[in-house]
Amino acid sequence: MYIRTSEIPREGLDVVASRGKAWIPRLLEGMNSYPLRSCRMLSVTLHLFLEGRDLETSGSFAAEGEGECDRCTESVALRLEREFQTIYVPADRGPAEAGDLELRAGDLDIAFYDGGGIEVANIFWEQVALSLPAKVLCREDCRGICPQCGADRNRTECDCSGETRQGPFDVLKTLRKEKE
Ligand SMILES: [Zn+2]
Ligand SMILES: [Zn+2]
Repeated sequence: MYIRTSEIPREGLDVVASRGKAWIPRLLEGMNSYPLRSCRMLSVTLHLFLEGRDLETSGSFAAEGEGECDRCTESVALRLEREFQTIYVPADRGPAEAGDLELRAGDLDIAFYDGGGIEVANIFWEQVALSLPAKVLCREDCRGICPQCGADRNRTECDCSGETRQGPFDVLKTLRKEKE
């Protein structure tokens, strides 16, 4: 959903109040959800306010996504949520305009936009990306995949030696052995 800056009234725009909620579950449809397998918005709030040409956004979201366990690649259900305040400044903003921004911005995030309007899906996709956990595990003690034989060690015990760490050079060695 694209909103032009000219559509934002002086007092600001409450996007959900003015556009309803029907678009929310479809917001991220068609976007590349990598590194998630899928992601769906459950609820959002979004307020847009124009300060000169700067577009101040504040909002929140809750989404459900499907990620991949870092160790065994099993799918993992994720619940993502975040509150945010971001100031979008026009990409062509001159240095003369920049001075007061730092004062106002404080701890707020700053991003760029083209000055004409903003794609709401992009705002939220950026926030989803920021809310992704650094590590995704199907369970705390996931045993992962055996680097030697490829067995899922959560399901089967394999007969490989206890060495669980295999550096990149070990992989090369294995490849070379297979070639011989
Ligand atoms: Zn796992
Ligand atoms: Zn093994």
